[in-house]
Amino acid sequence: MADTKLLDGRLIVTTGDITRMTTEAIVNAANSSLMGGGGVDGAIHRGGGPSILEECKRLRKSRYPDGLPTGDAVVTGAGNLPAKYVIHTVGPVWGDSGEAEKLAGCYRRTLEEAAKLSLKEVAFPAISTGIYGYPKEEAARVAFAAVRDFLETSKLPETVHFVFFSPRDARVFLDTLSQG
Ligand code: ADP
Repeated sequence: MADTKLLDGRLIVTTGDITRMTTEAIVNAANSSLMGGGGVDGAIHRGGGPSILEECKRLRKSRYPDGLPTGDAVVTGAGNLPAKYVIHTVGPVWGDSGEAEKLAGCYRRTLEEAAKLSLKEVAFPAISTGIYGYPKEEAARVAFAAVRDFLETSKLPETVHFVFFSPRDARVFLDTLSQG
């Protein structure tokens, strides 16, 4: 499926494996332990090698002894991946209280961290829509609104990529937005 550009070209909807993205940063749908897991998390740690986990362990000791809170974000290097940084964020499990606000927080906090590092490009997976069970349509609305609101007031990052694992998921995203 061809890429689709939204928000004056600043949001690019694409399909593929996020670990292959050559953007400066890719986003990990982590869990609060920061110790790795399934889905995107597993793929990033497998592809990036042990240095990412080492950095996560140090962050747990220094800044997050109780784990990274849901809706927050933290940056590490990307090890052997083409990206330079991984921004780890913890999405809400579907059924948590205040899940939409927490999911929006993931996008906002990640973009804040990217802007702090003066990054031009960041690639997100569809946070919470895998193991955490967030319905893809609901997540689409939240993710789009959060990114739109952030980019309205910030020049950086210049471009955000939404990377869907399957063309079908990308289609659900675009169809959901076009339905308003
Ligand atoms: P969560 O625990 O936040 O739900 P998951 O990693 O289980 O995170 O899934 C989030 C989304 O990422 C799902 O839609 C899943 O299909 C997708 N996904 C899984 N692996 C990859 C990958 N390598 N690249 C891009 N997206 C992926």
